[in-house]
Amino acid sequence: MHQPSVEPRRSIYYDYQVHAPWLASAHPGEATKKVVIVGAGPVGLTIALELARHGVSSVLLESEQQVSEGSRAIVFTRRSMEILQQVGVDQRITANGLPWRFGNSFYRGQRVFRLEAPHSDDDRFFPMINLQQQYLEQYLVEAASAEPLIDVRWGNRVTAVRQQPGRVHAEVDTPEGPYTIETEWLVSAEGARSGIRSMLDLKLEGASYEGRFVIADIKIDLPLPTERLAFFDPDWNPGNTVLMHREPHGIWRVDYQLPANETPEQALLPEALASRINALLAQIGFANTPWEMDWNSVYSARTLTLPDYVHQRIVFAGDAAHLLPIFGVRGANTGFQDAQSAAWHLAWVINGFVPESFMANYSRERVGAAREIIEESGKSTRFMTPPTRGFRLLRDAVLSLSLSTAFVRPLYHWRTSRPHEYSDSMLNSLGDDNAIFKAGPAHGAPPQNVCLGPDDYLLDHLGGGLDLLYFTQEKSLPASLSEVIAQARTRGLVIRVTAIGAAQVVQGADQTFADTTGHLREQYGVKTQGGGYLLRPDQHICARWVTLDAVRLQAALKKFLN
Ligand SMILES: Cc1cc2nc3c(=O)[nH]c(=O)nc-3n(C[C@H](O)[C@H](O)[C@H](O)COP(=O)(O)OP(=O)(O)OC[C@H]3O[C@@H](n4cnc5c(N)ncnc54)[C@H](O)[C@@H]3O)c2cc1C
Repeated sequence: MHQPSVEPRRSIYYDYQVHAPWLASAHPGEATKKVVIVGAGPVGLTIALELARHGVSSVLLESEQQVSEGSRAIVFTRRSMEILQQVGVDQRITANGLPWRFGNSFYRGQRVFRLEAPHSDDDRFFPMINLQQQYLEQYLVEAASAEPLIDVRWGNRVTAVRQQPGRVHAEVDTPEGPYTIETEWLVSAEGARSGIRSMLDLKLEGASYEGRFVIADIKIDLPLPTERLAFFDPDWNPGNTVLMHREPHGIWRVDYQLPANETPEQALLPEALASRINALLAQIGFANTPWEMDWNSVYSARTLTLPDYVHQRIVFAGDAAHLLPIFGVRGANTGFQDAQSAAWHLAWVINGFVPESFMANYSRERVGAAREIIEESGKSTRFMTPPTRGFRLLRDAVLSLSLSTAFVRPLYHWRTSRPHEYSDSMLNSLGDDNAIFKAGPAHGAPPQNVCLGPDDYLLDHLGGGLDLLYFTQEKSLPASLSEVIAQARTRGLVIRVTAIGAAQVVQGADQTFADTTGHLREQYGVKTQGGGYLLRPDQHICARWVTLDAVRLQAALKKFLN
């Protein structure tokens, strides 16, 4: 019988709430579910909330009775915030997180590289914001618990799955014993140690690296700004790399590589942790500043993905689908993009707009994203933890040269997580004008946010279905366009039409932005009237036209219909 711990986890800064378990005896007469999601981590929770936006109900099974142990993912990117805005938790993160955009890399006491992540008036969110994962999960849990279409079941552990045509049966163990749940679709979002991945005997492809890292959260009062700090080859940890990040509530993340001959158990001994943290503090000039340990763990860098995320009616997302190194903050941030994508593809299949085979597009696009990340993060991992003597020689040469030579310094800049562009997606419209645009987001790219006024941005008004941006100064939408849109709506598609550029409300549009300065048109590279963009439900661009007409719109929409 599954007995998750009901002792609140220990933390200096976070009060864990233990949720009551969901028990089958209190809910007799269960029907077949549309979607069962296994795992209420950041990915499972976001999938449930996204599905609900598309009107699809789900059951969320979580083995534990409280949110995750330790801060884990602490850096969330702008694109993650844009996705989290869609599910309604962005404001709580902004109110409690620490935004940042600068990073500093040091070698032999000298700053050899300063990272400056781009940020403009058109961005609602900073490039990065730091917040401990427990808070993020808590905000998502509260949003999910308030949503009638989501049934959150704490203390419910999936122990077996069985597929038959059009159905999945899952065995679930609870504090009062097991029960079986039947569902049309099952999403495995159970994290890195996915049991369902093993039950289906699926193998991850890619590489695991030798280097292991200690992560430790300490409470300490350091008068330093919220900027990422990286120290290469410090005297107290020769040949290795050390990272520091500020977190809310007076916590700092210290992240350092273990010497090759040390086991994780040795590295996590209190005296080993204390001596390294004290050495680091001495190095940065805070030798006698008191500190207290909150949480620590060891991890190794892996770049692995399943080659396919959809196996009949079982869909993988997040860490269950791929394991990515945390340099470049890729774990949870990649997971949010999976979540958004998995949810809208599933919702469109369940709502009957597209056939079941449409799920292959989710798999193709997100496996493509994981492979791109693996390629990029492999490079940064090899720089941070050189796997061979050759890589170490090369890395050390860059470190030495950087003291005197400016041009090698950008080699320190490991790329942080960024959204994948679905440039080759089968959903991109082939007969449009993508190739002739001189500016604006291209096929498969995420949208460009634009400031519309005080505390008002374009992306605040988009998402949840297809979005057609139509650039016009006319009083109404052309009748032929309105007709195509009306036809698609009768098939159930949600399409929001946003008219841009007219002083008055445009008839036939759902909303109008005057764009009096022309800034929005400029950002989207639209110079003439009658241009348009079509955005998918995940807001990525799938068509854009210098001149839009009914035939061209119909061709683009056809990609989304049965
Ligand atoms: C020690 C550690 C440190 C990390 N540090 C960072 C970091 O600094 N930066 C970063 O970006 N990322 C970091 N990560 C990675 C980040 O936490 C993950 O990428 C992120 O949590 C993935 O979210 P997920 O929802 O896919 O999986 P998870 O967050 O792992 O959630 C999976 C959920 O599924 C539940 N579950 C598992 N099995 C079952 C089952 N059989 N039945 C029901 N429920 C089940 C689990 O209890 C869990 O709640 C770290 C991870 C770990 C473990």
